[in-house]
Amino acid sequence: MNTIDNISFHGERVVIRVDYNVPFDDQNRITDTTRIESSKETISMVLKKGGSVILLTHLGRPKGIDLNLSCSLIVDVTSKILGEKVIFCPSTIGEEAEKLSKTLLPGEIMLMENVRFYPQETKGEKAFAKELSKLGSVYVNDAFGSAHRAHSSTTIIAQFFEKKYFGKLLEKEIRSIDKVINNGKKPILAILGGAKISSKITIIESLLDLVNDILIGGGMAYTFIKAQGGAIGSSICENDFCNYAIELIAKAKAKGVQIHLPKDVIIADSFNNLANKKVAFINQIPKGWQGLDFGPKSIEDIKPLIKKSKTILWNGPLGVFEFDNFSKGTIKLGELISDATSKGAFSLVGGGDSVAAVKKFGFNNKMSYVSTGGGAMLESLEGKKLPGIEALM
Ligand code: AMP
Repeated sequence: MNTIDNISFHGERVVIRVDYNVPFDDQNRITDTTRIESSKETISMVLKKGGSVILLTHLGRPKGIDLNLSCSLIVDVTSKILGEKVIFCPSTIGEEAEKLSKTLLPGEIMLMENVRFYPQETKGEKAFAKELSKLGSVYVNDAFGSAHRAHSSTTIIAQFFEKKYFGKLLEKEIRSIDKVINNGKKPILAILGGAKISSKITIIESLLDLVNDILIGGGMAYTFIKAQGGAIGSSICENDFCNYAIELIAKAKAKGVQIHLPKDVIIADSFNNLANKKVAFINQIPKGWQGLDFGPKSIEDIKPLIKKSKTILWNGPLGVFEFDNFSKGTIKLGELISDATSKGAFSLVGGGDSVAAVKKFGFNNKMSYVSTGGGAMLESLEGKKLPGIEALM
C-alpha cells in the first residue's frame, strides 16, 4: 500500500480528497465533526513535510449549486479542528480555483467548494476529473466513506497523477477491515441492526462464508420474523424481502452459521419516545403496536454470544436509540462489546448510525476501531473491491 509515511511533500501542492460530509441540524449547525477530526493526521503530516493542502469534499446531495450545502459552512469548524487557517475557494475547478491553488504557500490549506455542485462528479466524468487534477501535483485519497463510489474526485482523478497515495485514515480503515476478513480470530460474530433492510440484507449472504454467528436486531429483525409467519404488528418490515430472508436462513443453516434473532422486544403504540410501551414476544406483536427496542430476555440471550466471540462486527443499532425510552438495547450491546474488547476481542463498528450511537453513549474509545464509512465498510466486508482504493494501486 503506497502510504504517505515515507514521502516528502516539499514544495508539492497536495490535493487531498476528504469526506467532510458532516450532518447538520435544522439551524445549520454541525452535529458531528468526527469526519473532519479524522482527517487531521493526514493533513498535519503533509504540512509538516513541506506541502500545501487543497481539500476536496462533497457535502450532502445537492442538485447543482445549493448554498445550503456550500463548503463555506464548514470552513470555520475545519480551521478550528485543524488548528490552522483554512482559505475557502468559492469554486472547485476553473481559472479562479487553479490560480488560487497555485498561490498557496507550503503550510497553507485551502478548502474547495462542494465537488457535487458539478453533476459531472457523481457521473465520474473524466474531463471533470482532469480539471480537478489541475489543482495540485500530488493526489491523496483519505475519503474512506466515499471509496465505494467511482466518482471523479474519489476515483477517476487518480489516473491524472503519477504521485498518488493512501491517506492515514484510508490506510487505517483498510487495515482494520483486513484484520476481520483475512485475519479475523474465530468465532466471528456480525451484528446487523438499523432500519435499511434492503441495503443490508444482501451482505448477510456474503458474511455466511466469513462469520460463525449473525445477530439480527433493530428494524432488520421484523422482516425475518414476518417471513417465518410471526405477527409483527406495525413494526418496520420490507415485505419484498421476506422470501429472501427465508432463503438466507436456509443457507446459513447449510453452512453452519447460526442466525440469532431477538425473542422479545419492547413494543410501542406509536413511533414516539413517550409512547406507551411494554415487553412482547417478537412474533406476537399486537395490531397497532410496533417493536422499537431489544427486550430483556433477548439481552440476556446475547451475553454468552458476545462473550465467546473473538471478532465482532457491528453495523446498525438494536433499536430506536434516538429515543431515550428505546435506547436500552443499543446501550447494553455497547457495554457488552466494550467489555469483550477489554478482554481481547477485536471489535469493528461501522455505519453512520451505529457510529452515532457509539458516540452518543460514550463507547467510541472502548471499541477496537470505529469506521467512518458505512456503505464502504459493508462493501469491503462483502469482499468487493472499492474503486477509490483500486485507483490508487
Ligand atoms: P441504518 O441507517 O439502517 O443503520 O438505520 C438506523 C436507524 O434505524 C436509526 O435511526 C434507528 O432509529 C432505526 N431503527 C432501529 N431499530 C428500529 C426499529 N425497531 N424500528 C424502526 N427504526 C429502527
